Amino acid sequence: MALPFSFISLFRFLLGLSYKLATIRAFLYLGPMTHAQKNVMTTEIYKEFMFEAAHKLPHVPEGHKCGRLHGHSFLVRLYLKGEVDAHTGWIIDFGDVKAQFKPIYERLDHHYLNDIDGLENPTSEVLAKWIYQQTKPLLPLLSKVEIKETCTAGCIYTGE
Ligand SMILES: [Zn+2]
Repeated sequence: MALPFSFISLFRFLLGLSYKLATIRAFLYLGPMTHAQKNVMTTEIYKEFMFEAAHKLPHVPEGHKCGRLHGHSFLVRLYLKGEVDAHTGWIIDFGDVKAQFKPIYERLDHHYLNDIDGLENPTSEVLAKWIYQQTKPLLPLLSKVEIKETCTAGCIYTGE
């Protein structure tokens, strides 16, 4: 005795139903599909660089230790935010980040920061913004720049 339906027809029915539900969803506009529904993932990565540089802060009060010429081992952390490519599995190659940042890095490493255009008052805040503005055109996914001038003191600039 034949069954009233075959498994194939059941499968076709379910497939059609799922398509109809998707159409109804679009028609009713139940809100945009989330990234998870579209199978897209957004993430934020970072790449760290260390450089040595000298500076002094010209606007501190008389006798302030930061007014004297001194140096730091600065840590720069570049954050980049974007969609993960379905094929490569990354938003950008870390090697590309390093290559794009190289000319900016070389302007800073083992230099006297106060001599650089825009860094006449090289606080961590000013330096983070300067690096962001120099780097953004080269790395459009750049989302923020973090600077640490000591192990316990730093600054994060997000482009605002
Ligand atoms: Zn300092």
